[in-house]
Amino acid sequence: MSERNDQFAENVAGKYFITKSCIGCTLCSVIDPANFMENTDEALAVGNCYVYKQPETEAEELLCEEAMDVCPADAIRNNGTSN
Ligand code: SF4
Repeated sequence: MSERNDQFAENVAGKYFITKSCIGCTLCSVIDPANFMENTDEALAVGNCYVYKQPETEAEELLCEEAMDVCPADAIRNNGTSN
């Protein structure tokens, strides 16, 4: 299975996405609230985060990279493509 197929459906289309390895620590949404958001669906036992907006500025791009580097579950991916 490709990592693309293992991602949360909530991720907006684009090169960054969060896979189902996410443990819901919310660190990425704290580091980069402009691009990552916690899924607050109460039906979820562990609220995952997802990419709600792809980076549009160099600053946002750097924060996405930082979040990817520090994610404890190695769940954030950048596949370099637009979808
Ligand atoms: S930092 Fe990683 S494990 Fe934590 S919420 Fe974000 S994607 Fe999930």
